[in-house]
Amino acid sequence: MKTTEKISDRVLNMEESATLKMAGLARALRAAGKEVISLSLGEPDFDTPDHIKEAAKKALDDGYTKYTPVPGLLELRKAISNKFKRDNNLDYSENQIVVSNGAKQSLANLSLSLLNPGDEVIILAPYWVSYFEIVRLSGAKPIIIETDISQDFKASPAQLQAALTDKTRFILFSSPCNPTGSVYTQSDLEALAAVIKDREDILVVADEIYEYINFTDKHFSIGSIPYLKDRTITVNGFSKGYAMTGWRLGYIGAPEWVAKACIKIQGQVTSGANAFAQKAAAYALEAPMDASNKMKATYLKRKELIMDLLSQIDGMQVNHPTGAFYIFPDISALLGKSYQGQKIETDEDFSAFILNEAHVAVVPGSAFGCNGCIRISYAASDAEIIEACKRIKTYVEKLEG
Ligand code: PMP
Ligand code: GLU
Repeated sequence: MKTTEKISDRVLNMEESATLKMAGLARALRAAGKEVISLSLGEPDFDTPDHIKEAAKKALDDGYTKYTPVPGLLELRKAISNKFKRDNNLDYSENQIVVSNGAKQSLANLSLSLLNPGDEVIILAPYWVSYFEIVRLSGAKPIIIETDISQDFKASPAQLQAALTDKTRFILFSSPCNPTGSVYTQSDLEALAAVIKDREDILVVADEIYEYINFTDKHFSIGSIPYLKDRTITVNGFSKGYAMTGWRLGYIGAPEWVAKACIKIQGQVTSGANAFAQKAAAYALEAPMDASNKMKATYLKRKELIMDLLSQIDGMQVNHPTGAFYIFPDISALLGKSYQGQKIETDEDFSAFILNEAHVAVVPGSAFGCNGCIRISYAASDAEIIEACKRIKTYVEKLEG
């Protein structure tokens, strides 16, 4: 290697995003002429609703083509502040809101703003794949609470208690959860909150990006628990509920001192997010939710379909998601079996087997901190779901041993 070609230790020590990697492998197989069904990437298969696109077109015509304030257009921050009150019983003023290029950037801002090397972040597993590396980017240490299907992949208060140390800086989780689809209910969250009630040095980072794809009666925000009000950062975004992944818009509501730190770092790295996208997003938040509700109803039907189909596969233990658009079956009973003499030892081997033989892309659970499971995104048509499950069943039935 030439001496000029030296990558930083930071990047050398970082894992590639497993979701994006699987999506790339699926794309490559497809380019090689295979009929691949990709259920790997967590992305709505719907297009952004027309009324939001129209608002963006109008914003362009109206001259929203310039830099915006670093934390976002005041109009959008006001709309987000109203949304937090309306939907979440959360009280964040516009000075407590920072809009970023996706919730991914919001999380990176938080990590870089709040953490020092040696700090610990408790991550409830299975966790979204990027949490781990985003925390490590700051030099802090991810402390993983492992859960399994028998507890619906939700951490218990006793587990949280056991993970706390004097170095704990914040707790990070998503609900509805990517990758499991589990939802932490109000009582689940109150029980977890009680554990840290008196640890006023500990913050909570609640990623609620799947809020609008919640099949339970009501989404509950942990920040609405009065004693956590000044200690909770609520992360959200437009990618999932509004099918706006490519628009790159996420946001936080946070204590003002946290918001200020995030603005400082964002001001040096990217500045304000896209101007006309922000304008359309402000409109989306206040417009009727019919399109999002329709998408949610469709995801719910697909969830029933995929649960039914996967349940018919011997060796797959299927969980019962109540939100997002993922299912996270436990395939550990299939590990140790062989296909054409090749042993399948891990969920990674299993995912590679399903991709290469059945031409269905899924993501290994280990990427989310949970061995022996796979994540399947059902943000796909009924026909794709039916065909994918048929192929998975066919190949699982070929396993021996
Ligand atoms: N959090 C979770 C739990 C996610 O699934 C995603 C999806 N990529 C994100 C954050 C980031 O979303 P985005 O950057 O598209 O807003
Ligand atoms: N959140 C999605 C997923 O988990 C999008 C891909 C990514 O950003 O990692 O698949």
